[in-house]
Amino acid sequence: MGSGKSMDFLVSMFVVVFMYRRVFPLDHVHWYYTKEALKLTYSGVINPIPEESMWPEYQCLHIDPPAIHSEVGRPKKNRKRAVDEPYAPSKIFSNRCQTCKTMGHNSRTCPDKGK
Ligand SMILES: [Zn+2]
Repeated sequence: MGSGKSMDFLVSMFVVVFMYRRVFPLDHVHWYYTKEALKLTYSGVINPIPEESMWPEYQCLHIDPPAIHSEVGRPKKNRKRAVDEPYAPSKIFSNRCQTCKTMGHNSRTCPDKGK
């Protein structure tokens, strides 16, 4: 919508045209835009919501969120390696012991630790 000033000008121009044609302007305005319609719109009362402790007890089944499952066509999180393909480097280095430099355990569980 335009500003109030230009809207007032537009309305006054319409009134002039209606007067020139000798017709009553309000006969050509929809009832929706009348003062009575505005009053009727805001005549209802909307009560504020009371405090949560004053709400009525809710008697219904407990509803859980939907189960998580992978969607059809989504990529797998890890690629399946071939039988003769070596382990991923992250798998190899994460299992290498820092004490004896062998694989399969870490330095905390190293059998050579106490020796
Ligand atoms: Zn070790």
